[in-house]
Amino acid sequence: TLENLNKTYPNGFVSVKNLSLHIEDGEFVTFFGPSGCGKSTILRMIGGMEDITSGEIYLGKDLLNDILPRDRSLAMAFQNYQLYSHLNVYDNIALGLRLRNLPRQIIDSRVKMAAHFFNITDILEKKIRVINEAQKQRVALGRAVVCKPKVLLVDEDFARQNEYRRKEMMRDIRRINKELGITVLYVTNKRGETEIAGQKVISMRDGEVVDIKKI
Ligand code: ADP
Repeated sequence: TLENLNKTYPNGFVSVKNLSLHIEDGEFVTFFGPSGCGKSTILRMIGGMEDITSGEIYLGKDLLNDILPRDRSLAMAFQNYQLYSHLNVYDNIALGLRLRNLPRQIIDSRVKMAAHFFNITDILEKKIRVINEAQKQRVALGRAVVCKPKVLLVDEDFARQNEYRRKEMMRDIRRINKELGITVLYVTNKRGETEIAGQKVISMRDGEVVDIKKI
């Protein structure tokens, strides 16, 4: 839930204006609007990568404002995947779990489940630098969901390389939403990506919501 959320950048530019919004558990929400309308700023504030000027962000009953990014039950699919090329696929997926100091057996079973889900079990031992782009994209999504986040944040830069990659990514994030029950917040400026059945499309202009509709 976002309540009266505002963002003014240090140079005085107002990027998000008094945004209030309620999102249900398990929804697939798409923020849609022209470049510069504030979509990524919202995502970054939810993720904790950007300070909030005023307003509140809740996840369930928890006020997220003062909770460190890594302690929010969220995952972000990062631009350019941000994988460690000298590590293998297994270790990249396991990273977040190891940071949480989970027991080895639990890490192992979670990594294997994620690998199975994304059909990348056969490349777990391969170094990132030798796998292809499609595989990297899936490893990045595997790493995002392996910690069982309540919400997955996906910025449009995540798969900007080509149309085919974007379609695959859309398919994968829909599966993550439907089959794993994870709420997905997706940002796009492409109208064609706002026509998927079941999504809630939030149209924005100049930092404000102009329309909300369920597809
Ligand atoms: P979108 O994701 O919709 O393309 P953004 O949230 O990235 O839009 O940016 C919204 C507006 O805020 C844009 O006009 C952008 O130029 C501006 N903006 C983004 N980051 C900063 C910053 N650090 N300082 C000043 N203005 C910024």
